[in-house]
Amino acid sequence: MDRLVAEKILKALRVEFEKFNVEEFIALKAIQSKNPFQLLIAVVLSQNTSDRNSLKAFENLTNNLVDITPWKIIETPIEKLEEIIKPAGIYKRRAEALRRISMEIIEKYDGDLSKILELPPEEARRELMKLPQVGAKTADVLILFLKGGYTIPIDTHLMRVAKRIGYANSKADYEEIRGKLIDLFKPEEYLEVHLLHILLGRKYCKARKPKCKACPIARYCEYEFKVL
Ligand code: SF4
Repeated sequence: MDRLVAEKILKALRVEFEKFNVEEFIALKAIQSKNPFQLLIAVVLSQNTSDRNSLKAFENLTNNLVDITPWKIIETPIEKLEEIIKPAGIYKRRAEALRRISMEIIEKYDGDLSKILELPPEEARRELMKLPQVGAKTADVLILFLKGGYTIPIDTHLMRVAKRIGYANSKADYEEIRGKLIDLFKPEEYLEVHLLHILLGRKYCKARKPKCKACPIARYCEYEFKVL
């Protein structure tokens, strides 16, 4: 796949999904506060669950704690924290994870996550990935949403869609797909690339039975099992 085709795909996706609805993306909702810790908590709540469920949990958390800080998380009794974030699922493990993250950020960064984000992007990414529950995707979400165009987080939709479209081969792993997308698109497009391809995956390029006939980028897609 070359850059020209990638740009055509992006253009078609812009037309198809004219506006992003904040409610469809927990990260967009959480970033409204410009608070990195709040975004981190939102992304952890969204791991292995739908944005709809994690949004409910995140709203509960905001309503209960008002201002989501590491101190407020650790001061909240664990049973109460579990109850608050229940809509996100696996709430016992998740509540425990939120406390471990909060403790570590207090101990290592005086509770201020922005200290990591002030580092150069690659260093910030490495530091973020040392935190409990923070893998490459979570670190990339924080960097993309808070530092701008340095990386593209690859969620399950993007992973599937990127392989089918032909941005990367079918055996490519997270880092390979991320690298291909970074090369194919311009840094100022990374956020759009991330969001628009997720929307494509949700609406058309579903895991089972992709809706190729209705897909707005079918003419560019290299998927061998494309049904037109
Ligand atoms: S044509 Fe089909 S496989 Fe290709 S991106 Fe669209 S829905 Fe996915």
